[in-house]
Amino acid sequence: MQKIRVGLGFDVHQLAEGEEFWLGGILLDYHKGAVGHSDADVLIHAICDALLGAASLGDIGVHFPDTSNDYKGIDSKILLARVVELLKEKNYSIGNIDATVSLQMPKLKPIIPEMRKVIASVMNIDIEDISIKATTTEWLGYVGKGEGINAHAVALIYKD
Ligand SMILES: [Zn+2]
Repeated sequence: MQKIRVGLGFDVHQLAEGEEFWLGGILLDYHKGAVGHSDADVLIHAICDALLGAASLGDIGVHFPDTSNDYKGIDSKILLARVVELLKEKNYSIGNIDATVSLQMPKLKPIIPEMRKVIASVMNIDIEDISIKATTTEWLGYVGKGEGINAHAVALIYKD
């Protein structure tokens, strides 16, 4: 019998002036960027946690601790590729990913196709199997004030 599982990922990063802004595996052109131990790619981190959660493999902090110098400034695409590898070792295949990024500024709509392309290629899945949506919080809270960014993701995985 085919075993189907879902996982949920959520991540938040602070935004600050002059930081690089990596999101969905690409570098955004903006005066602020996300702060973190790695490249602080909130979308990829949420996807990693959704995948790990679906396989009951803990979370991103367990596998790539932010106390380790190995992961300082690391490209999160490398972490995502490792997570996909971990799932493969447990004989899981990826069904699809759906994600929402909450960010007030800049507008993400024009770059969503490129983010989908990059993430699909890192995960070795079809572009149709990765959905990325963007929302603002109507100027409310830390996202609305431009103090931070968050992302939610769900992942469906299966085993035959
Ligand atoms: Zn993160």
